[in-house]
Amino acid sequence: MIRYALACDKGHVFESWFQSSAAYDKQVKAALITCPVCNSVKVEKTMMAPGVLGTKKKRRDAPPSQMPPSPQQSSNTPSPVAMMSPQERDFRNKLKELRDHLIKNADYVGRKFPEEARKMHYGETEHRSIYGEATPEQAKDLHEEGIEFHPLPVLPDEHN
Ligand SMILES: [Zn+2]
Repeated sequence: MIRYALACDKGHVFESWFQSSAAYDKQVKAALITCPVCNSVKVEKTMMAPGVLGTKKKRRDAPPSQMPPSPQQSSNTPSPVAMMSPQERDFRNKLKELRDHLIKNADYVGRKFPEEARKMHYGETEHRSIYGEATPEQAKDLHEEGIEFHPLPVLPDEHN
């Protein structure tokens, strides 16, 4: 179907649909197209570009329809966490409990941690819970010697 903007000899502009431009030509010649205002059969196409429906070519030429952003896409966008859910609050409290428990029950050995950990590992002292500090280098060495230890849990906000 082709839509033509038509105008009669008195200047009335109207639109009409035709199967094809050939069908339009035929109907104009047969005086089958009349102006809806004055019934004139002296009708011709205006300079307005015809609208075209349902032909594949035109559809392919048309700009691709804008897809709305899918919900999946927007949920993949990373965003900083600003609020703690009750579960996270609970988890944080458990971390704090673990940390408090460690600090209360373990011996603080400070920078002697690698030394103390080694002594325990090789049976020079009795096993007990200790905590202290180790440099990344010392931590690496301890791991290589097969000495198991864990970083003290760090809380996201120490003031809370
Ligand atoms: Zn007219």
